[in-house]
Amino acid sequence: MSAARQLELAFAFEDSPRWEAPRLESALAREAGRPLRLVLTDNRSVLLSVKREAGSLLLRLHRMFLHAPDTVVSALARNIRRRGRAADGEVRRFMNANLHRVRRTPREMPALVTSGRAFDLAAVFADINARFFESRMRVPITWGRGVGRARRGGLTFGSYDPVLALIRIHPVLDRPSVPRFFLESVVYHEMLHHHMGGVPDRAGRTVYHTRAFREAEARFPRHQDALAWEKENLPELLRASQALDRERRAARAGARAAARASSR
Ligand SMILES: [Zn+2]
Repeated sequence: MSAARQLELAFAFEDSPRWEAPRLESALAREAGRPLRLVLTDNRSVLLSVKREAGSLLLRLHRMFLHAPDTVVSALARNIRRRGRAADGEVRRFMNANLHRVRRTPREMPALVTSGRAFDLAAVFADINARFFESRMRVPITWGRGVGRARRGGLTFGSYDPVLALIRIHPVLDRPSVPRFFLESVVYHEMLHHHMGGVPDRAGRTVYHTRAFREAEARFPRHQDALAWEKENLPELLRASQALDRERRAARAGARAAARASSR
């Protein structure tokens, strides 16, 4: 066996996790002296969070904690018991030393879904492409999952991801009560983002909704109608998007329960 190969094996052995999830969960619950549920995540920004859940605690930890030595698990349990800041000292040092385990892979192109219940996005896109861009634009488009885009008092109906060069349209627009010209105005807006890109401002930030952008946007023949329709129907769309959100969460919970049942 070559030295390099040996080294690789040694490293792989060293790097294998110290814990399996159920054992880590029970160790933490025992040391913290209270029931808790452990969920492991690949979240890249929040490595650790504690939330009170009916009668117990929900502890979300990044997968790196499967490599945590006993001292770190004890420190974590102590912090949970104190209900204080759950990441000081020992735990914080462990997280900093294990940042290489946090995935930094580039985002992948999701599977594209264009046919919907009420609208075929591919057809809407082709139509706008012909009317405004001489059918020259090539950019993938998909119904989004409708996550993480709702904000207080408003909804982001579409988004353009400059890294993936992908247009996502909020699934709340895929309903018969939405007029086609409104969906078209959203698709047109996102296509313009692809077409026009961003412009750096004096502070070096990238600005997308420039004056030129707003002028181009207003060339959509029913631009004013679209704004008026949005204003009038926003409350209903917000309710509909919350309903979608609940459906999605219920489906996910169902899938988790099924997975647990089949792994027993
Ligand atoms: Zn925009």
